[in-house]
Amino acid sequence: MFKSFRGGVHPNDYKSYTANVHIEKVPVSKKVIIPVSQHIGAPGVPIVNIGDRVKKGQLIAKAEAPITSYVHASTSGKVTDIAVYSSSYRDKSLAIVIESDGLDQWMPGLPLNRDWEKMKVEEIQGIIKEAGIVGMGGANFPTHFKLSYGPEKKIDTVILNGSECEPYLTSDYRLMIEETEKVVTGFRIALKCLNVKRGIVGVEDNKPEAIKVLTEAFKGTGVEVVALPTKYPQGAERMLIKVLTGREIPAGKRHSDIGVVGLNVSTIVAVANAVVNGIPAIERVTTVTGDAIKEPKNLLVKIGTSFKDVIDYCGGYSKTPKKIINGGPMMGYAQDSLEIPVVKGVAGILVLSKDAVSHDEKSACIRCGRCVKACPIGLVPSMLSILSERDRHEEARESYGLMNCIECGSCAYVCPSKRNIVQNIRYSKSKNAAHAHK
Ligand code: SF4
Ligand code: SF4
Repeated sequence: MFKSFRGGVHPNDYKSYTANVHIEKVPVSKKVIIPVSQHIGAPGVPIVNIGDRVKKGQLIAKAEAPITSYVHASTSGKVTDIAVYSSSYRDKSLAIVIESDGLDQWMPGLPLNRDWEKMKVEEIQGIIKEAGIVGMGGANFPTHFKLSYGPEKKIDTVILNGSECEPYLTSDYRLMIEETEKVVTGFRIALKCLNVKRGIVGVEDNKPEAIKVLTEAFKGTGVEVVALPTKYPQGAERMLIKVLTGREIPAGKRHSDIGVVGLNVSTIVAVANAVVNGIPAIERVTTVTGDAIKEPKNLLVKIGTSFKDVIDYCGGYSKTPKKIINGGPMMGYAQDSLEIPVVKGVAGILVLSKDAVSHDEKSACIRCGRCVKACPIGLVPSMLSILSERDRHEEARESYGLMNCIECGSCAYVCPSKRNIVQNIRYSKSKNAAHAHK
């Protein structure tokens, strides 16, 4: 029997907009803007020049630091600019702009159907590194790093996170159903990389179809598929590891410090694409949804495609948009421009009208304690928020565990005074950036 985690909330999941909508491929845009920083760690270093012609899948930015990631062209065409652009990750980033030639032509020599079971672990790890794969659930951590832990880390369990607990988002759900074989292959490759036998797939019980197909597909592999009671933020790494293994990540530590590696569904599909067919991380499935989108969809989008092009592909707006969010409503970031590119970590674009956005005015904290009860980490969100407003950021870090906040938004969700708890916490964290957990 799996125990649940403390706190958490049960928001309406709004997944019916797109849960049954098949993944569609978005046609190539006239231009793609590809940031060299789409990941935790140092930005990639451009290796192309303005005027160069590139092919789809071609390496365009090298990874030269210990923690960083490679970046590739997502279509064929001409490099027309290399400059700082607005981005959906880290606000601004140096980016390589490619004007499409409309041919979407692959670089030559792509391997097809490699037999990964016969490949050496080091070869597989090298492929994952060179494919530029990062955590696509929003963590953006370079995946090769996670899949190259040596025996000293004593990793004994690998978890596949199929929770997708953020309301509205269904990209991982559709991948589990439509690309089941790739999910199985990618996860088995991860187990091989880490020389681990114990693999667990955690899926919330509001996705019975995914549980059914994955249970069938993993039969005979030794991997266990577990249906978990639906509760937000089940998909947060700390919560999922606690629920599936009973282990807790101590404050300031990482999953690997307790012998566990967690991977997201989109990431594992990218691993299968790279290792079997040599396809680097040049596209991802993104859910475009919300009450203000004319035709909500799950879309396979080339990295670098603008939010505007993606929304236009969904028929544009059905109502005047009030709020556009990169990601889901709980952990996503509000955006004020559509001229930003989809990057590797964009799992969803949510567009809400005024009818779907809360209009309650923020008021003073009434010390009701609901935020404390909802916090899955055991923090005191009301205090963190107040300290942030008073610019007492160091005190928030040293005395109230600020840096352990996973920004799940459960506190703000239950707050009757509609206080900007998460924004305040993010602000305080930015003021304590030098103390961020590595
Ligand atoms: S304080 Fe942080 S971890 Fe706790 S509920 Fe709020 S956002 Fe989530
Ligand atoms: S839920 Fe809101 S009003 Fe209640 S204690 Fe927390 S911050 Fe204050």
